[in-house]
Amino acid sequence: MTQKQTLSFQAEVAQLLHLVTHSLYSNKEIFLRELISNASDACDKLRFEGLNDNALYEDAPNLEVRVSFDKAARTLTITDNGIGMSEQEAIDHLGTIAKSGTREFMGRLSGDQKADAQLIGQFGVGFYSGFIVADKITVESRRAGLPVDQGVRWTSGGAGDFEVEPITRPERGTSVTLHLRDDAQEWLNTWKLKSVIAKYSDHISLPILMRKEEWKEGEDSKGGEMVLTDEWETVNQASALWSRPKKDITPEQYQEFYKQISHDTEPPLTWSHNRVEGATEYTQLLYIPSHAPFDLWNRDKAAGVKLYVKRVFIMDDAEALLPVYLRFVRGVIDSADLPLNVSRELLQESRDVRAIREGSTKRVLSMLEDLAKLEKEDAATAEDKAKYAQFYSEFGAVLKEGLGEDFGNRERLAKLLRFASTTSDATSVSLADYKARMKEGQEAIYYITADSLPAARNSPQLELFRKKGIEVLLMTDRVDEWALNHLQDFDGTPMQSVARGAVDLGKLQDDTEKKAAEEAAEAFKPVLERLKAALKDKAEDVRVTTRLVDSPACLVVQDAGMSMQLARMLKQAGQ
Ligand code: ADP
Ligand code: MG
Repeated sequence: MTQKQTLSFQAEVAQLLHLVTHSLYSNKEIFLRELISNASDACDKLRFEGLNDNALYEDAPNLEVRVSFDKAARTLTITDNGIGMSEQEAIDHLGTIAKSGTREFMGRLSGDQKADAQLIGQFGVGFYSGFIVADKITVESRRAGLPVDQGVRWTSGGAGDFEVEPITRPERGTSVTLHLRDDAQEWLNTWKLKSVIAKYSDHISLPILMRKEEWKEGEDSKGGEMVLTDEWETVNQASALWSRPKKDITPEQYQEFYKQISHDTEPPLTWSHNRVEGATEYTQLLYIPSHAPFDLWNRDKAAGVKLYVKRVFIMDDAEALLPVYLRFVRGVIDSADLPLNVSRELLQESRDVRAIREGSTKRVLSMLEDLAKLEKEDAATAEDKAKYAQFYSEFGAVLKEGLGEDFGNRERLAKLLRFASTTSDATSVSLADYKARMKEGQEAIYYITADSLPAARNSPQLELFRKKGIEVLLMTDRVDEWALNHLQDFDGTPMQSVARGAVDLGKLQDDTEKKAAEEAAEAFKPVLERLKAALKDKAEDVRVTTRLVDSPACLVVQDAGMSMQLARMLKQAGQ
């Protein structure tokens, strides 16, 4: 067995620790949530590994968390009998950050404490949040299944380094002891701890125990005080939130659960909690966040839904449960049918999972439809009314990926899309709104794609449409071009780019206009021939057009050609 060693934190951890102690003091209590959630994760892991190896439970089958304090020593301790850590695991897990996107996250910190505190909350500082209230942390642990003399003690003052040494530890699992800072003595108080545990940890399916307190009269009736007894009591509800009946759950509890699973500091826009019965049985609790996480565009780090099987945690980020374009959804799915030892590979092939995925996709779409409806109908509050616009500004571009990804729901998705147009500055025009406003005789939904709204609005290709008073949708998201390739028509009306081919406005153009164009084409034939010859390598065709009113010339794409916007995008991507 090796002796005591002093090791350095990974650079990112040292940086994070500095931030934690300097930016998070306004929200101190989150440390308790983080440490209890780690204890709960550790018990989940034991339950999971225990499925194949019952011996891991040793002689303590009841999983639990104990929170206790020592007034004289000024310490607060959170103990669990979960999976525990070996020495190497303590070094790896408490000395480095394995999370993907860590570097990217660090790069986004601005130095502005308020903004950074928000971002740090989102990232989840986890274990290191202990240093908000502690100037020294001691962790003692033993991994389930290892001999009692292979325990580990990890100690750090939260600066550049930490120490590890082997210890003997009869009980399996982990205890984290916080040596409280002078300004954090308020945590040596049963009432304070209980109230924060109720706020953050009621929904954790594990009992959280604290010592009972008892009133002790003072000597000679000189007043008395509360003293701790040796008896322990459960201080949380200890049942998984989603397994309780809806009517017993308050909106605050739903919101708190959301914050816990998403690490988001803002409340969600909406949620939906259902027990689905039938061929495949499962419970879903799905949330739509109110703002995008910093890594929304990372399609690899897609899913945000946790999978449970009969209350047993199976995995985070279960990507098989929802399509990639719904990666912003957070929540829990608890299946009654899947085997407990299900793997990611197995998930991909399971019929039950396919049914869950379909059911959950439909559920999310109907949540969004409900939000969109509030926008039109008399919502109770202006805030409710604005919810869909809020959703759309954060996630609309991601939702569009669904047009190409989810053929079966394309029509429902198309109805959820919103655009700016030549008659609306806000991104609020639905395709149905557009159709309702179409001119008599208009046969297509016209749109233009560009890098920005001003660029779209000032395009010479809109001249004729403006003159005729025809509304054109303005599309400026990078995915629009790609997404529109998958949406040829809406509700029977074709989608038509104004920058493609010869614009034929059909019945909207009268015969004299058409005739004039034909005559002009005839008259300009020699000029066109010369232009064509001069632009031989650059343009496929040169023709007289009716699409322009004020500008002398413009570039267009052949009907079957790649659009300019797409060509530019591919070029940017180095293709
Ligand atoms: P996260 O929980 O998001 O992984 P944390 O910073 O909270 O990040 O914890 C880092 C890692 O330390 C955990 O992933 C886990 O491996 C380990 N860890 C922390 N607390 C415990 C505990 N009570 N029991 C076992 N392992 C733990
Ligand atoms: Mg954690």
